Amino acid sequence: MDLLAAGKRVLQTLNEAGYEAYFVGGMVRDQLIGRPIYDIDITTSATPSVVMSLFEKTVATGLKHGTVTVMIDKIPVEVTTFRIESTYVDYRRPLEVQFTQSLDEDLRRRDFTMNAIAMDQNGCLHDPMGGLMDLKQGRIVCVGQPAERFCEDPLRILRGVRFVAKLGFSIEKETLAAMKEASSLLERISKERIKKELEGMVQGDFFEKAINDAYEIDLMSAIPSFEGLNRYRYYCFQALTDPILLFALAGLNRESLTEYFSSWPFSRVERKCIEVLCQAVHQSMEMRYFTYLYGEGWARRYHQLKLFLSQTNFPYESVQLPITDRRQLAIDGKMITKIIDRPKGPWIQELLRKLEYLVVMNQMENKTETLVEYVKQEMEGVNYE
Ligand code: ATP
Ligand code: MG
Repeated sequence: MDLLAAGKRVLQTLNEAGYEAYFVGGMVRDQLIGRPIYDIDITTSATPSVVMSLFEKTVATGLKHGTVTVMIDKIPVEVTTFRIESTYVDYRRPLEVQFTQSLDEDLRRRDFTMNAIAMDQNGCLHDPMGGLMDLKQGRIVCVGQPAERFCEDPLRILRGVRFVAKLGFSIEKETLAAMKEASSLLERISKERIKKELEGMVQGDFFEKAINDAYEIDLMSAIPSFEGLNRYRYYCFQALTDPILLFALAGLNRESLTEYFSSWPFSRVERKCIEVLCQAVHQSMEMRYFTYLYGEGWARRYHQLKLFLSQTNFPYESVQLPITDRRQLAIDGKMITKIIDRPKGPWIQELLRKLEYLVVMNQMENKTETLVEYVKQEMEGVNYE
């Protein structure tokens, strides 16, 4: 069974039980413009407890917001009860969720007109906000008073810019002006939510267009830790196709990464990658040596970051490495201690690191005689005391 069939089954069951139910949100929007759909959102007059009683398998994924996930043949379908959002606390979450029996009211609480179109099981649209017209004209327009809507939930600003990146649409004038006015409120939004939106933005096909809007509304100054990105204003962002590069770029402009890492919810791997990329940029590490140390996956990211920072465009070239591990060097610590009569110490590791670098960089052949000769020369005249 495909996504759509699963969704239709849910609509039918709800309708047969006497409730209103519609497809809504991104799925309707994307379908109307012929884009693939990845998830299904349904809005209904049935309360969460009714929804749970009508289906065999349900998961109470967001009961506080009236959302129940219905499982149809292992396909998750999100079903949310018609609701109005009223008081907001902390600019994060609505204080209380009030259910309603009115589809129109439910559509009115949504962010943009293109996301406020409901579709019934026969494909009939309910579009009191005129979302279809905006969708066809590629316009992102707030539902209701933009200034109010962004104050209620400033995350909508980032969602709007993310939709530009995803769809290539233009933000309507009044909506854009209100985004600019309210952008400083973003500092109150949780970094988890911000990070998710930024990731979506970078991965969008129209990221460059989104960047223009981001500068227009001074988004970079509004996101904590990202102010430094303002200096890249005139750069072409085409090279940044991976979210980690945006986060590394923000890291590059910080004196220390410690505070940056403690305030953003990066995974351990993300932190490591950002740190490695920032260090490599600061040290102007050669691509070849970077690839040896961190592998091709990260090297491709380093390449992209270099393209961005140098504003050049040259293709990534795979490198053939003479060795892939220090243990493949034609010399080891034991051999070195045999040639050099000096007490063991950190100097051995240092020497091996140097040899490893020279071999990786093709500046020295990985042959025992060559390496032994180098070691002898290097250690000649060194004071062992
Ligand atoms: P996508 O899934 O492509 O990211 P989407 O529009 O489906 O886009 P979701 O986060 O899945 O986004 O939300 C589903 C719907 O819920 C939206 O289309 C919108 O109608 C509503 N919605 C989501 N977040 C908000 C918000 N912060 N304020 C108002 N309405 C929202
Ligand atoms: Mg969605």
